[in-house]
Amino acid sequence: MDEIVKGVVLKARDYKESDKVLTILTASKGKILVKARGVKKAKSKLKAFCQPFCFADFEITHSKFMDILTGARVVDMFFDLVQDYEKYSIASVLLKLLDKICVEGQSYENQFVNSTRCLTAICYLDYNPKLAFIKFVLNLLVGEGVGFNFDNCSGCRAILRDHSYLNLDTGEVVCEKCKGFYNVKISKDVLLLLKEINGTDYENLKNINYKEKNLDETIKILFLDLKQRFDVSF
Ligand SMILES: [Zn+2]
Repeated sequence: MDEIVKGVVLKARDYKESDKVLTILTASKGKILVKARGVKKAKSKLKAFCQPFCFADFEITHSKFMDILTGARVVDMFFDLVQDYEKYSIASVLLKLLDKICVEGQSYENQFVNSTRCLTAICYLDYNPKLAFIKFVLNLLVGEGVGFNFDNCSGCRAILRDHSYLNLDTGEVVCEKCKGFYNVKISKDVLLLLKEINGTDYENLKNINYKEKNLDETIKILFLDLKQRFDVSF
């Protein structure tokens, strides 16, 4: 073993007859690909760790073509996620999003911390998982240097009071006057909800009052923004 890295498995794909290739988002090395040999065999000791959501200290041996998994010590498997279809679906989108946005060879320490905190919240905290997901995306955008400004119009800096717009050409929040041709309206309630979630820790999101339709509207707007900025869609 050459190294121990803390990480979360984003994806596990079959490779050859009995191997898997894991995509792991790590705290120290960003996104890495690791080969797990023989883990499709029933007797494999590492089999349990080679699945999405596994948060562990992974023992890695360096090799010429691809690093090899030689051991793992679990931090959390987030088993409870599979008991709840909605939680599982939302957490799966979170993993896909990270896989699409993070590239190999770049550090993503903030995104790693954000992802484990969000998965913990979705799995164990007793509130609507959509709240945690919205928080996750807002943090993700900040980590990528494209966080929202909910207070001022990105065009003319005017204070955003009532409704505002997401400019679909730039991904920025603007006022009525500055909205471009391609835009989507953000209602006052949704803007307030975004602000509130943005300013609240994962642990305290349970205290937020919301209407389900506003949560769905918020997620719709965030997906439009992700599509514009990173060309990812779900
Ligand atoms: Zn403006």
